[in-house]
Amino acid sequence: MSNQLQMISDIEREVAYTQHMIGRSALSGAVMQAIREVPREAFVPAAERRFAYDNGPLPIGCGQTISQPYIVALMTDLLEVGEDAVVLEVGTGSGYQAAVLSRVVKRVYSVEVIETLSLQATETLQKLAYENVSCRHADGYHGWPEHAPYDGILVTAAAVDVPAPLVDQLKPGARLVIPVGQPYGYQDLIVVEKSQTGEVSEKTILGVAFVPLTRSNNHFSQYPE
Ligand code: SAH
Repeated sequence: MSNQLQMISDIEREVAYTQHMIGRSALSGAVMQAIREVPREAFVPAAERRFAYDNGPLPIGCGQTISQPYIVALMTDLLEVGEDAVVLEVGTGSGYQAAVLSRVVKRVYSVEVIETLSLQATETLQKLAYENVSCRHADGYHGWPEHAPYDGILVTAAAVDVPAPLVDQLKPGARLVIPVGQPYGYQDLIVVEKSQTGEVSEKTILGVAFVPLTRSNNHFSQYPE
C-alpha cells in the first residue's frame, strides 16, 4: 500500500474509533477526495518529507506545525460546507488545510500571523495551482472583514475564547470550527453555529492539541523555540 493510501485508511479508522464523539462514522466523500488529491509532501519541509503521510502533526518551522491529517479532514467535514461556499481559515501555516478546503469549496481566504509562513504557503499554493486560495499576512483574530460574511470559518490555532469578530463574520446558518483552551494545555474542538435568526450556539466535539492563537504584537514570546 502506498504511503498516501495508508494515510487515508488511518484517517478512516480514527474517524470510526471516535464516531461517538464526532457524531459521524465516516467523513463526506468530497472531504476524503480532497485529502486524496492534495500532496501533503509538498507542504512539509524537506527534512520531514518521509513522514509526510504519517497520520500525525509535523514541524513546519517558526515553532509551528502542520496538523494531523485526521484533524484536517475532521475539521473540514465539521464545517458542513458545499461547493459554492466561501470560507475563511485562520492560521495558514504550511497552506495544507487551505489546499484541502480549496478542493471542497469555491473560494478560500486564509490569514497567517507569521509573515515567513504566509509567504511560503502562498508560494506552495501557487506552484500547485490552487488558484481559488488567497493568503494574507495579518492577525486572524480580526478575521478578514473585506470578504465577510463567510459560509464557514476554520481556526487552526487554539484560542482562549471564541473571537467575537469571527462570530460576526459568519453568515446565518454558518459554522465556526475552532480549538478553544489553554496554550499548550487542555483544548476542546468546538463548533459554533449561527442560526438563521442569528442566535449563536456551541457544541464541544473532542479534545485536541493545537499551537496557540497569538496576537500579532507578541507571538514570539508565546511559544518555545
Ligand atoms: N492550518 C495549518 C496549520 C496551522 S498551525 C496547516 O495546514 O499547515 C497554526 C498556525 O496559526 C501557525 O502557523 C501560527 O503562526 C498561526 N497563527 C497563530 N496565531 C494566529 C493569529 N492570531 N492569526 C493568524 N494566524 C495565527
